[in-house]
Amino acid sequence: MKTHCPYCALQCGMTLTPRPGGGVLVEPRDFPVNAGGLCRKGWTAAELLDAPDRLRTPLVRDRRDAPLRPATWDEALDLVAARVRRVQEEHGRDAVAVFGGGGLTNEKAYLLGKFARVALRTSQIDYNGRFCMSSAAAAGLRAFGLDRGLPFPVTDLAGADAILLAGANVAETMPPLVRHLRRARDRGGLIVVDPRRTATADLAALHLAPRPGTDLALALGLLHAVVAGGHLRRGYVGARTEGFAAAWRIAARWRPQEAERVTGVPAADQRAAAGLLAGAGRAYVLTGRGTEQHAGGVDMVSAWINLALALGLPGRPGSGYGCLTGQGNGQGGREHGQKADQLPGYRRIDDQDARRHVAAVWGVPAEELPGAGRSAYELLDALGTASGPRALLVFGSNPVVSAPHAGHVADRLDALDLLVVCDVVPSETALRADVVLPVTQWAEEDGTMTNLEGRVLLRRRALAAPPGVRSDLSVLRGLAVRLGQDAAAFPDDPEEVFAELGRASSGGPADYAGIAHDRLRDGEALHWPCPGARHPGTPRLFLDGFARPGGRARFAPVDHRDVTEPPDADYPLYATTGRVLAHYQSGAQTRRVPELVRAASGAHVEVHPDTARRAGLADGDRARVVSRRGAVEVLVRCVPGIRPDTVFVPFHFPGAERANLMSDPALDPVSGMPAFKSCAVRLTPANGEPA
Ligand code: SF4
Repeated sequence: MKTHCPYCALQCGMTLTPRPGGGVLVEPRDFPVNAGGLCRKGWTAAELLDAPDRLRTPLVRDRRDAPLRPATWDEALDLVAARVRRVQEEHGRDAVAVFGGGGLTNEKAYLLGKFARVALRTSQIDYNGRFCMSSAAAAGLRAFGLDRGLPFPVTDLAGADAILLAGANVAETMPPLVRHLRRARDRGGLIVVDPRRTATADLAALHLAPRPGTDLALALGLLHAVVAGGHLRRGYVGARTEGFAAAWRIAARWRPQEAERVTGVPAADQRAAAGLLAGAGRAYVLTGRGTEQHAGGVDMVSAWINLALALGLPGRPGSGYGCLTGQGNGQGGREHGQKADQLPGYRRIDDQDARRHVAAVWGVPAEELPGAGRSAYELLDALGTASGPRALLVFGSNPVVSAPHAGHVADRLDALDLLVVCDVVPSETALRADVVLPVTQWAEEDGTMTNLEGRVLLRRRALAAPPGVRSDLSVLRGLAVRLGQDAAAFPDDPEEVFAELGRASSGGPADYAGIAHDRLRDGEALHWPCPGARHPGTPRLFLDGFARPGGRARFAPVDHRDVTEPPDADYPLYATTGRVLAHYQSGAQTRRVPELVRAASGAHVEVHPDTARRAGLADGDRARVVSRRGAVEVLVRCVPGIRPDTVFVPFHFPGAERANLMSDPALDPVSGMPAFKSCAVRLTPANGEPA
């Protein structure tokens, strides 16, 4: 069976073959994004299917302090529906909230949004992709009028002479993508922006290591160097963009020497980077979470887009700007209605035409659709408060580990009247739930995913789910019917749901109307927009103009501002968080794969040897990393390639190693993205101060 990896947004092609004694064999196949390669997460993905603690029956708790016990599906769904009704009768419709995930298939994300707006009629729905992609999405919309992570196939990168990667460690997070960077690397054109000397930075001709949270100042320095060096593409800027003058008024103040003072990146390196990009025939600027996950993340991404526009890259064949989506369906997950402010097809929920269109597909009056709700962290922060939701339904997310200020989020979950979690395994969030519903996973169900380049692909059912397990679609249908909805309005067949998604998205920015499971089964992999059954899809966007008035991209007049929590005498270091090669997101899946646990069994703090020495620590010691919100206890790993003022902790691990116990929930005012990538901490020996 040809299918795709269950993890990241590259969605590598793989083949699953049943083994005679049980289980399945995973082999890579020749799909464009991975061209026969897989990372170790993909190679070991089959082990996820029979994880020893796989959930196989619904679980309910009779009282908050009682243990979870097995229940029948009817008992569990009846219980959830009755308690949802009671909460809404007592506290109003918005007292029930829904939290989705960027790993859900398009069908699940779509039906979840419909379930919230039609069956629950709540505005309170958001998802963990808010923590992942929202700043780049907002910046892309602002500049181009449309957000598709890569507006070109990932294979186009293979023809580039120069690529700047800002805050993306692809050599560890999506290794098969590195093959597409080879030409740029071999020509000395790979530039990596990261405060750590990552595996990706090791490949680069130029590694720029800014102080965390200063990427915008660095991008301004590079823009200044481009213009001062005579590299501004005046013809392109005049014909295809607007707003350059206002953006330049700010960048004119950011000579590379000034940017060096703020970022620590030598002015000569800034000029060299500008020269490499400007001198390349074909060049790309790509951003990742490192530059996006800040309280000023939208502006930071805008600054990189400004640089790309000044160089005339976006919307030109063989060049461009793109954002590297992280989660498996991070792209599709943000297009079909599980985001607080969106309806399917990437429509805005406050757009009256959009409301009428979607309401007609759903067969409900447009005025009955709720408005925009809270963004992800605002939603989690409000749980159980006087004005916040009293019940939460979680699908495909583990916020106890993945949300910022995770200790506080766990307290908010505990304050709820009802927590329901649908998951494959007993995640840290599921273990706090009143009701746990066991659901199918990737190889046990059909469903579409939209990868980082906007390519819609079909993940196929390769084997039967364990007895006792139901699909998320079936759970939504079961609950919707119990809440008084017509069963026909909540199909549990993925193909039927996808056909309805196509109708709901028709005419919207992310138009899937022409995509169908049978086209995908026939081997097509279609990039949206694809408005008709004979339409070939749109691998490359913007070649004839941007999706803005007049077809012009817009420079954003953005300026540097300091991080929300700069280091001080008590918390003298920056902490940043991220992923390691062996694990994925909250680790709920990969921490159950023995080979991956052997490769990385716990968290560590990556620290410069001089910084460790000053803290009385050496390689292999246990350390506490303490922020104003919480502390983690982790192993010390001394590496000379990290800035001495910065430490790094991976965020995949639970308990006392949860990096998000310390992370800063300050939010970007536009995107609602938390500041995962910078908070102030101190470093001490683990036994050096009380917990
Ligand atoms: Fe899976 Fe991503 Fe690894 Fe590819 S790079 S095998 S999609 S985790």
